[in-house]
Amino acid sequence: MLQNKVEVNTAIDFIGFVEVCFNIEDTTKKDGSKGKRLNLKIEDLEGQKCPVTLWDSFAVDMFTYMNDKKREKYVVIICHFGTVNLYKGKRGVANSFDLSRLFIDNADIEEISSFRERYVAKVSSSSSSNDNGGSYLISTVEDEFLNKGDFMLIGLLGTVLEKKKVLVIGTVTAICTDKLWYYNGCNHCKSRVEDRFVTKEGDDGSCDAGETKGLVCTNNECQGVDIYAIPRFKIPIRVQDSSGTVSLTLFDYEAFKIFKKSAKDLLAVQDQVVNSGEIPNPYPELFDTLVGKKYAFVINISDYNIEYQVENYGIAMATNDDDIIAALYSKFNINQHEQSESYGVPLSANLSNACEVTKDDASFTGDNVTPISNVDGSSKKASSCEVKRNLGEVYEVDDALRCSSTKRRMSDEIVEDEVVGLSKTLIPKTEK
Ligand SMILES: [Zn+2]
Repeated sequence: MLQNKVEVNTAIDFIGFVEVCFNIEDTTKKDGSKGKRLNLKIEDLEGQKCPVTLWDSFAVDMFTYMNDKKREKYVVIICHFGTVNLYKGKRGVANSFDLSRLFIDNADIEEISSFRERYVAKVSSSSSSNDNGGSYLISTVEDEFLNKGDFMLIGLLGTVLEKKKVLVIGTVTAICTDKLWYYNGCNHCKSRVEDRFVTKEGDDGSCDAGETKGLVCTNNECQGVDIYAIPRFKIPIRVQDSSGTVSLTLFDYEAFKIFKKSAKDLLAVQDQVVNSGEIPNPYPELFDTLVGKKYAFVINISDYNIEYQVENYGIAMATNDDDIIAALYSKFNINQHEQSESYGVPLSANLSNACEVTKDDASFTGDNVTPISNVDGSSKKASSCEVKRNLGEVYEVDDALRCSSTKRRMSDEIVEDEVVGLSKTLIPKTEK
């Protein structure tokens, strides 16, 4: 293949040692659909190296594995039904979408273990010491978190006036039940699909053939034909830090990484409950494993959030890895003791799980569910509560991807007053 003797688009199986794994990237394909791409470099036993491109779920699986601290040092993959592709003018291999099967360090596959044994034997007998490090990850999830966006306290998110990525660290306090946890996505571009009445033209171009109900993709640029719906995650959660609480939406890739189940599978389970004549939970029980856990989130503050003052942000990345969270605390000089305080929040069972937060919402005013840490007395608590009371009116917008709004973002005039109060909660890290 490296000698260009194999045609592009030929189906092939390949095996190799993963020398380098690059960073996972978001892509927009020519047809407007969104996906993920991951580039690797693999090496065979003769030392020949070949670029590999993995797409979508293959990319996510590979990247997740590479970031697993318990992974093999020398990672070996087999791709069954891969394809020869051209990448930046060079021949490489790729997965051919749903056809391929990718095996990553699968212990049950003899070819993988014997390949690794022979590769390691070759490396250890080689005099050059420069390739003894095993598989190398160019950008780790840790780097991603440490280098993507500024850290912000949740209470200050409303002050951001430009589109950007921001890092927040907080405890998941609830899965909201006032919104669906999934949406019906277009099989082609993943945008929301809707049932609409479509006027069908007769064969002669007349409009008398009547209206039929059909699925329509809401993405105007989508070029999919014969589209069908695939359920995808959009899990509405509440996340809290020492300064406040915010509504975030966990989308498909990150949710799949956490739960290892697809929205389609979980929906099928709920459907079974319905078919047996019972009323299913408002969301799969599995989601409750999130509640009470601390996560670092990279969130997108979009033009939409800013323009409509909607405080409900999409999650770009999520991790609850202790090492990453500790590294973030140290990098951003956050008082870990304060952040790690157990807030004593009643978890979802006792809370009203509504994401719609009004200024009179009990969770902001009721002492029994006050989400604010008491570490340094009551003054901070008062100021944080005040900010929330001033947050303004509920602002309702309904859109599956935007997950509808919760509350208005802070308006400019209160920001000036309240930043001062909130800054007290950013206690410099002094004690060890
Ligand atoms: Zn579409």
